[in-house]
Amino acid sequence: MKILLVEDEQKLADALSKGLGREGYATDVVGDGKKALMRISLYRNDYDLIILDLMLPSMDGLEICRQVREMNVTVPILVLTARAETDTKVQLLVSGADDYLVKPFSFAELKARIQALLRRPTESLPETLKIRDIELNPGEHKVLREGKEVPLTLKEYGLLEYFMRHPNQVVKREDLLNHLWDFNYVGFSNVVDVHVKNLRRKLGSEGDDVLETVRGVGYRLAE
Ligand code: CA
Repeated sequence: MKILLVEDEQKLADALSKGLGREGYATDVVGDGKKALMRISLYRNDYDLIILDLMLPSMDGLEICRQVREMNVTVPILVLTARAETDTKVQLLVSGADDYLVKPFSFAELKARIQALLRRPTESLPETLKIRDIELNPGEHKVLREGKEVPLTLKEYGLLEYFMRHPNQVVKREDLLNHLWDFNYVGFSNVVDVHVKNLRRKLGSEGDDVLETVRGVGYRLAE
């Protein structure tokens, strides 16, 4: 497992990379925003996870996140932030981050988040799920629509898989939160809506044609 750590605080970067090394993760450290973006665009397939500090020289983490997702890089992104405002959190998730951790945090906390992001379903069923013109291959973590690959982030993929395993049912936001987010998102259920919006966009449907919104409850994927 290889991690790209983008952090300009040298001391913190050293401590994290040492700790991650002890856990068996190889870590590359970059301390500058633009350099990080360049590195990700050149070596996108080398990393299993990107840990991204929010405040960085030359380009901030939010912008990096946005641009990385625009390049259709789907590697999980964990953002480190010193800010605790809800606005920033929502912005982060809209920009394509999978998770965030508010500084200061303990190494144990970081480890837990990393494990959650890197965890692959252990008993993933090999058969391809198909609903309408959407095909999902759990073995390869791949989604096709009309035969064309749809690049999804970890959370978007998780959402779609959940919907496809529960077709025609009204799936509650709470169920999605419980199933796809490991830690406490109490009072923050619009995180689901944000990711569903991104998922719809990537499936090429801004509207309700694939995923129907069930007002006040959740969503439904009709066969
Ligand atoms: Ca910083």
